[in-house]
Amino acid sequence: MKTFDHAEYLGDAVYASFDGYHIWLTTGDGNDQRIALEPSVFRALVEYEARLRCMLTAQRTDAAPRFCAMEDCDQEPNIGSPHCAAHEAELLNSQVQP
Ligand SMILES: [Zn+2]
Repeated sequence: MKTFDHAEYLGDAVYASFDGYHIWLTTGDGNDQRIALEPSVFRALVEYEARLRCMLTAQRTDAAPRFCAMEDCDQEPNIGSPHCAAHEAELLNSQVQP
């Protein structure tokens, strides 16, 4: 049986520990799943998280403006729309009417 040092609870039934080389992630939920991350793999995971943050931040700023496109409206726009929910409904209504 492997001994795990520096064990710490991360949350959500996940524990982290260190065997001198690998960082281990183990579950304490009865399934007893374990994964060993060697240093290069752990670094890749950390870099993945950094890339993910960059991509998601870029997507958010590219695709979604922070405010409704209507003048003097400071509401958040709907996803995939330049307008907030209220203004989108208003514009839809005005297009329907002759
Ligand atoms: Zn609006």
